[in-house]
Amino acid sequence: MKILVADDSNVSRHLLSSMVKKWGYDVVSASDGTQAWEVLRQPDAPRLAVLDWMMPGLTGPQVCEMVRQKGGDAYIYILLLTGRTQKEDVIEGMTAGADDYVVKPFDQQELKVRLRAGRRIVELQDELLSAREALLKQATHDALTGLKNRACIREILAQHMSNARQAGSPLGVIMLDLDKFKQVNDVHGHAAGDLVLIAASERIQNVLDEGDAVGRYGGEEFLIVSPKPAADLAALAERVRAAIAVEPVASGPTLLTVTASLGYASYCPNVDAETLLRAADEALYRAKHNGRNRVEPGISDGCAKP
Ligand code: GH3
Ligand code: MG
Ligand code: MG
Repeated sequence: MKILVADDSNVSRHLLSSMVKKWGYDVVSASDGTQAWEVLRQPDAPRLAVLDWMMPGLTGPQVCEMVRQKGGDAYIYILLLTGRTQKEDVIEGMTAGADDYVVKPFDQQELKVRLRAGRRIVELQDELLSAREALLKQATHDALTGLKNRACIREILAQHMSNARQAGSPLGVIMLDLDKFKQVNDVHGHAAGDLVLIAASERIQNVLDEGDAVGRYGGEEFLIVSPKPAADLAALAERVRAAIAVEPVASGPTLLTVTASLGYASYCPNVDAETLLRAADEALYRAKHNGRNRVEPGISDGCAKP
């Protein structure tokens, strides 16, 4: 773990640095408060810091205050080194945001165990952060394909709608449904069906452009949201269709044919998300009706020419 050692006295700094290095930390050092703040304000700053109280530029407590004001997800555990005369001011240091303090001249073993306590806190906080991240991922993504789930892609559509309304930027949706997918399950089993879903998800993602988003909308139904004008949207839908149908999906020795039907619809003023989705859905059903493995344009009522 990286640790910042900030002390304006060369002797103390070197002593402290070699000590914490011996304990297994990667040392970053600073010779005044300004330098310490420069280090701690970086995105990949050390998560542990030992700051001398009195330093030119900024004092230890001042650095503490600035670190706490900055906030951010990754907590920085700060230990202040105080001289005897400052011991009375410990409350001030802790109020500034320090987590702990050690009075100089300090006992090596004491500093070692106090730093270990700080390290434990940083590690616990990291575990909390990754648990939170995992939960967020779980709540917004589909476990099988790793794609965004229905709620998440709908939320993205809502954001794009609001941009389109305010800035007049283009927006389109593509609804996609795998063809005769029930047959794959019925003939080859559910696991083979899952393989096809995963392969289809990858093939869709591979042909999307930056700014496009895709989610698993239902069982074997996908929704693509794209900030493209109508002509480009049609081209994207055709690219997705071709990518899915490019070759069968191998499930062991068995080759599973996979195709999809797609319907798309472009945003125009006064159209809401439901209407847009309905237009794409109706186009999708036309694509099914007209023979599958094809793309059909949708017309939403709001877009009707006067
Ligand atoms: P169509 O061409 O008209 O769309 O026919 P289809 O067979 O694809 O459509 P249908 O709606 O009849 O069947 C969809 C099937 O998708 C039924 C359901 O069991 C299957 N399915 C839904 N979710 C999953 C999944 O997560 N894994 C697997 N293996 N199958 C799934
Ligand atoms: Mg289907
Ligand atoms: Mg379906």
